[in-house]
This record gives sequence, structure tokens and C-alpha cells, in this order.
Amino acid sequence: MMRTHTCGELRPNHVGTDVVLMGWVHKIRDLGSLIFLDVRDRYGITQVVAREGDEVLTRVKHLRPEFVIAVAGPVERRADDTLNPKLKTGEVEVAIRTMTVLSEARTPSFQIDEETPVSEEVRLRYRYLDLRRLRMQRNIGLRHRVALSVRTCLDAEGFWEIETPLLAKSTPEGARDYLVPSRLHAGKFYALPQSPQLFKQILMISGMDRYFQIVKCFRDEDLRADRQPEFTQIDMEMSFVDQEAVFGTVERLIQAIFHVVGQQVPAPFLRLSYDDAMTRYGTDKPDLRFEMPIQDVSEVFREGVFTVFRDLVVAGGSIRALVVPGAGRQARAQIDKLIDEAIALGAKGLVWVRRSTEGVIQSSILKVAGEQALARVVETVGAGEDDLTLLAGGQGYEASVLLGQFRLLLARREGLMDEGNKALAWVVDFPLFEWSETEQRLVSMHHPFTAPRTEDLKRFEDDPGSVRAQAYDLVLNGSEIGGGSIRIHDAALQASIFELLQISEDEAKARFGFFLEALQHGTPPHGGIALGLDRIVAILAGEPSIRDVMAFPKTAAAVDLMAGSPSTVDQRQLRELHLDR
Ligand code: ASP
Repeated sequence: MMRTHTCGELRPNHVGTDVVLMGWVHKIRDLGSLIFLDVRDRYGITQVVAREGDEVLTRVKHLRPEFVIAVAGPVERRADDTLNPKLKTGEVEVAIRTMTVLSEARTPSFQIDEETPVSEEVRLRYRYLDLRRLRMQRNIGLRHRVALSVRTCLDAEGFWEIETPLLAKSTPEGARDYLVPSRLHAGKFYALPQSPQLFKQILMISGMDRYFQIVKCFRDEDLRADRQPEFTQIDMEMSFVDQEAVFGTVERLIQAIFHVVGQQVPAPFLRLSYDDAMTRYGTDKPDLRFEMPIQDVSEVFREGVFTVFRDLVVAGGSIRALVVPGAGRQARAQIDKLIDEAIALGAKGLVWVRRSTEGVIQSSILKVAGEQALARVVETVGAGEDDLTLLAGGQGYEASVLLGQFRLLLARREGLMDEGNKALAWVVDFPLFEWSETEQRLVSMHHPFTAPRTEDLKRFEDDPGSVRAQAYDLVLNGSEIGGGSIRIHDAALQASIFELLQISEDEAKARFGFFLEALQHGTPPHGGIALGLDRIVAILAGEPSIRDVMAFPKTAAAVDLMAGSPSTVDQRQLRELHLDR
């Protein structure tokens, strides 16, 4: 018996046709002299029926949920009062003439429907059952269509998909490597790639012009809630381009990806400097679905009487303000609760100001700062009678970072984020370096192959901290969905970057020698990006977790609960790998 149709296919025009369906027993309704079965496969659900007098009725009575069966029989129209508009096949049913059990099933640990709540642990343990559920089938299908749209779009843009090794050498993304011991070379290891960074740059040196790959990357980090030890990137590299050319290509790609779910996204996307993002939103991945910018009110306090703020401003710090719409009419106790939350977020101090309907200024620093200065604050930030203004002071981006956390917290609480809205932005002009307290040296903010902005090169020696990079992140609704840069294509500049990073010539040679050598063989100017496929699909699917768009994810503790990895291996394997003494 071969299946003639899928379980999502039959319509009234099939009535009278003999069909064979195969699938899982989804639901059984035994009415004694009549049994209805819902048979399910990836394409849908079809109702089949066995009636009194049917030779198969007794055998159908022995079926249990999740048995795999084949049924053959004619398609019939359902009676008008039994139509099921929720099913695509809801106008018809199949009268079972013959039925074969293709495979029996153990009682599933949970029901294969959307309503039954199941813990994630159980879902991951029995992933094959979980993947049978409609929601997961939709997500995995969406992931496939997104990947396909990426391939179609980039092919049309002249990209070639080229594979790079998984048994590779440590790359410079800055995370910990997964290592693979070599059997043939005692004491030596391959590293699973944190990204194909050096290979894709070498492909540009090789004249491939435009490369992409939908590729697994591996980073052995202490996992945060929504990180995975292996994840998938849409990795791209292009020759003879500048930043704008990369943006144009990626914007067309993102448009193609959104097209998969029928959404139009306008391009060009907003461009925001790192400095603006940090100052106005307190983060380098601002959620721009709503405004609420953080404002600077330092000048109000520079010559004021409130010494704490005045001293901070004089010492080069700043005072920043966040207007919380509609929070101004809250009772004092509620405002105090808000301040407590700020302290929980790590704030040393947060103060508030509001102006009552009668125009009276109220504030937690009214006595020490004076009504006049606080009235100026309210005016400067344009706060209305219903608004509450929060103030914080600090060095650098400190105050903005605090208020930025608050901005998100309050927006989430007040429902200011329109889920349907897709706010895309490029964050540009990142610093090339950042200071590492632990290592007491400059480290690359992206990776050491990122090109500095040409106009900043003159500050390279004297003030390297102020040099900006030709690096960019793509941000969607407060998540970083991609990042990349224009690369250094000049061996001498690359050498001086290593020097600034205090990477010795020997160390550079040992770690990236093959790449530095390639760089000296005629390197086109080039740049690229890597986009996070898991995160993009999760956002399109409306899933908060990337695990729900991966077929076989690991837990937050990097464990595969279904396969049971990581696991121990036997002594013989360890000996072969020279790991056992
Ligand atoms: N390799 C970088 C990363 O994985 C992206 C890039 O620079 O293209 O973050």
C-alpha cells in the first residue's frame, strides 16, 4: 500500500475517490458502534471513520494515540452539521475499508497538541514527540523557508555558498573553543570554529569575490538563558566594498527574509552611532519600537546648589533624565517602589521629579537641589503633568545604562512595545578597542581584523581608545541579530594593531600566521557580516527562545537531554586520542 494523499490534502472535490492515508493516530472518539479517528501528519489532520458492520471496526478499537497506521477507503462528504471549519480537510472524511498498523507506540509522555502544557525538560527529553506538535512543525518549516530565501537572494546577488572546515584552528572571536583531540597527531587539537572568520577572509584573498554560508558555529561559554553552544550564522563576505555596500546587500537580504512571513520592511534602515545609542538608550542594541529617549540635563546642575550632581558634572560626568509617560500621578509609595527596583538593578542613586497639576514641583531632592533647578529639568526634558522624570548621574555612559534598563523594564510593563512592529537599525562607529580590566590591556571590541575608520588613524598612537572602527551591528527590536566589519587588508596596519593589543609577533604567528601570510599575497579590500539565523527565525516565529526554532537544542547547561550528550567515552578511545595515561 502506498499513500495517495497527505492528511492535509483532501477536499470536497475528492469525494468518491478511493484514497490511502498514512499517519499518526491523533485522537480517538469511540462512540461504540462508530469510531472517529483523527489521523495526523506534517500536512494536517483528516478524520477517518469506521462504522458498525465494517470488518475493521474491532481492530480500530485497539488503536492507541500515536500508533502509525495506513487507512484505505473512499472520501465522503461530512453531514452538514458535522463540518469542522478548523481543519482544512474539515468538509470530508474517509470511510475506512482497510486499516494496517504500521507501527505501535508507547503511551506518549505528553499529548501531541498545543493545549497541554509540558515542561521544557520533558519536551527536550522526548524531542521527537515535541517536534510532532503543530507549533514546532511550523517553526521548523519556517526555518527551512528562511534558509531557502537566504540562498535564493544571495545567489541572485552573486554570492557563492562555500563550505569551510569544522575541524579548524582556533579563531579570534574571543570565546572559549571546543577542542577536538587528534588521534594521528599526539597532543594536538583541532578547534571547532567560533566562526569561519579567517577562512572567509582568505576566500576573498582567493578571488571568490562574494561568499556566504549557513554555518554552525561553536562557542564554549558559560551559557546565558538564550545562548546555545552551537548556533547557526548566515555568514557573508564581499570584496571591493565599503560599509554602505554591505548595508545595501544585507538590507535586501533582510527584506527577502521578512517577505517569507509576508512582511514588508522599509529600507534603508536607521543608522545610529554607538555613542548615540549608548547615550540616548543606554545600550548598543536599543529597542526602537518606542521612543522614550534618555536626555542630558547636566547643564542644569553645573552651577547649581546640589553638590552631588554639581561635583559629578564638574568632574566630567553627566546627569541624564528619563521621562516616564503617565507615571507622574502615581502615589509616593509606588514611586518609592520604582526607586527600589532601580537599586536592585545596581543603581547607586536615582532621583525623581514631577510637576503637579497646580504647577508645584515635587521631588526626592527638592530640599537639596531647589525648586528652580528642578523646574528647569522638567522644562528641558519636556515632561508633562502626567509624567515622572527620573534622574541619574555617573561617569561615561553609566547613568544612561541604568536609565536604559529602566526604559526597557517600564516599556515592557506598560505595553509600549508593539509586537507587530519591526524596528531595524544599524549601530555604527563602534570603538575599535575597549579596555579590559582583567587583562589590563586594550582588547578588540569586535575582533582584531576589524578596520579602523581612516579619519581616526591619526589618533592611533596617542589616543587609541578614541579610534572608531568600521564595524557595525544590526539590531532588531532590541536584539543584536548580526554584526560585522570592513576588514584590514593591509599587512602593516594589521601588524600595528597586534602591537597595540600587545599580541607579540610570535603569538600572532602561532595563532594566525597562516592568515597573516595570506594577507601578504594580494588582498582586496573586503568586509562582511554574520547574521544570527536562530534569533531571526525566533523573532519571525514570535518565539521568545531560540530553542523553539532549533530541532535539537541543548539546555541552558549545554546538555542534550534526548541523546544524553555530553557523555563519557571508553578507555580505548581515550588511549587512541592520547588523553589517557
Ligand atoms: N565573525 C564575526 C562573528 O561571528 C562576524 C563578522 O565579523 O563577520 O561575530
